Amino acid sequence: MKLESVGILINMRPIGERDSIARIFTPDFGVICGVMRAAQIAKKNRPLVGQFGTMTWNARLDTQLGTFHWEPEKNMASALMPIPRALGMMNSAFALVSTLLPEREQYTGMYNATIDLMNTLPTQNNVQTYLDWETKLLREMGYGLNLSACSGCGTHENLEYISPRTGRAVCATCGAPYAPRLYKMPLNLDITRKFIEHICMSQGAEIPLARRMLSGIQ
Ligand SMILES: [Zn+2]
Repeated sequence: MKLESVGILINMRPIGERDSIARIFTPDFGVICGVMRAAQIAKKNRPLVGQFGTMTWNARLDTQLGTFHWEPEKNMASALMPIPRALGMMNSAFALVSTLLPEREQYTGMYNATIDLMNTLPTQNNVQTYLDWETKLLREMGYGLNLSACSGCGTHENLEYISPRTGRAVCATCGAPYAPRLYKMPLNLDITRKFIEHICMSQGAEIPLARRMLSGIQ
């Protein structure tokens, strides 16, 4: 079996002294996992997290951990290196994609949003940029955050809360009896983190460290 696409190298961990296990996020096949031979000792064209490039993935059997051939074209992370908070947001996004998206399932919208995030972060490394990306991820995972109208009465006024159960807005009047159990607007990284934790728990995973490290960012 052979798969060919472009993609972003989002995760690498060493296996033995020469090779690495890599994850590449592609528009055609979603996240693909496989071995990159000699990735740790490459002198030329060394694979690095944050690179955009062309990949070929080969496996004798569909169920096997295949082997990558990786041709990096551009290191999208290099523009983020001097900006620690932008780098932190990139790391968090990559960790969430690695942890939450099932392998070899196409998520074209999420792929495009991740490319956009990488292109936008060098100039707009504000929380809102990242929060928009994370809101898209939550939508893909079944939390359609709808913050424009009250889920109780439909009003667009005085929206003060977010329901932890549905991710929808609740107005001050409807929310009053349940206030201690609701999240307070506006949406922020602490609230999306709670939704993400919930999804991770349901998948038997822990929230990635790179995401936890974002919590202090304003
Ligand atoms: Zn209401």
